[in-house]
Amino acid sequence: MSRATVTALLPGLTLAFLAGSGCAPGAEHRLEGRTMGTTYHVTVVSREHPPRKDLQEAVDRRLDEVNRQLSTWLEDSEVSRFNRFGAVGEEFPISGDFLRVMRAAAEIHALSDGAWDGTVNPLVVLWGFGPGGPALSPPSEERIARALGGVGFDKIEINPAGALVKRHAAVTVDLSSIAKGYGVDAVVEVLRGAGEAAFLVEIGGEVFAAGRRRDGRPWRVGINRPDPEAGPEEVYKVVPLGGQALATSGDYRSYVLEEGRRRSHVIDPRTGQPVTNGVVSATVLAPTCMMADGLATAVMVMGPQKGLALIERLDEVEALIVVERRGGFFEEHASSGFRTEGAPGR
Ligand code: ADP
Ligand code: MG
Repeated sequence: MSRATVTALLPGLTLAFLAGSGCAPGAEHRLEGRTMGTTYHVTVVSREHPPRKDLQEAVDRRLDEVNRQLSTWLEDSEVSRFNRFGAVGEEFPISGDFLRVMRAAAEIHALSDGAWDGTVNPLVVLWGFGPGGPALSPPSEERIARALGGVGFDKIEINPAGALVKRHAAVTVDLSSIAKGYGVDAVVEVLRGAGEAAFLVEIGGEVFAAGRRRDGRPWRVGINRPDPEAGPEEVYKVVPLGGQALATSGDYRSYVLEEGRRRSHVIDPRTGQPVTNGVVSATVLAPTCMMADGLATAVMVMGPQKGLALIERLDEVEALIVVERRGGFFEEHASSGFRTEGAPGR
């Protein structure tokens, strides 16, 4: 399966934007394009009219740079080169972006007790969620055990010089569940650097909102109904956002049906098995989009109880976890500070 088909199954995963209406002063400018195998959209509310012409160019250049470092789809990306690097115990020097993402990855791995693990890719591939396409039957115990041998974030050391050192020759990284979030944070830096203070940035469904809309009201983001049948415009919850990121990890657009049961695309790296806790979507609010993105995947693995316990421990982090129960009804687990607006409307 090519990247294009993979992402076609995950279209702008969960978010529908509720456009601002009203005619207050200030111009709203939109930038858009493609990155990381998906699309991005930026809305800037600028006092300048027209805004800086080079903003689109600066955003594209920055996203291109991040993608060239983190993509596992580009053979020559830094991550791909690190994955091929087989010298155990030797330093592999990396760029500032790769290092920032690896440090966040180590943090999410530790916070989640290993439920989130950026080295899990061999298992993802084994279970049929890699570029090879769906597996027809579950892998054997033996193949799972062999793959687990090369999995474990603690098999990579981030040394004091900021270089990576492999402790196991087979260990590889796949940062796809936090890369879009990091891309959003990188665009936020570009916009702030250009003097902008009110904007909404979205890459493939992960968002950061700063300031307010043109009409002075908070940005509002819609979360899709967690159901494979739901269209991308079907709004389930509306979350007001200001100076925060929101990311959703969901299973309802990417799964394999096995004897009538869904097989999750999220794998528990401690057992080598797809998760079966019934979590169909996890939405996380956090100060940075990279943390929100990674924690959303972590919480999918941890399940509602352990997941929420982690979220409650973290400052300025909130979550909504949706579990599908037998009979197809949805059970919601929200952290104490998670606020939504009642009825989806304007
Ligand atoms: P999306 O990419 O649509 O945002 P997620 O954020 O849920 O979806 O990320 C899913 C991807 O994360 C999977 O395709 C897989 O590559 C990877 N993954 C699966 N299980 C784990 C895990 N336990 N820890 C880290 N990454 C994982
Ligand atoms: Mg994600």
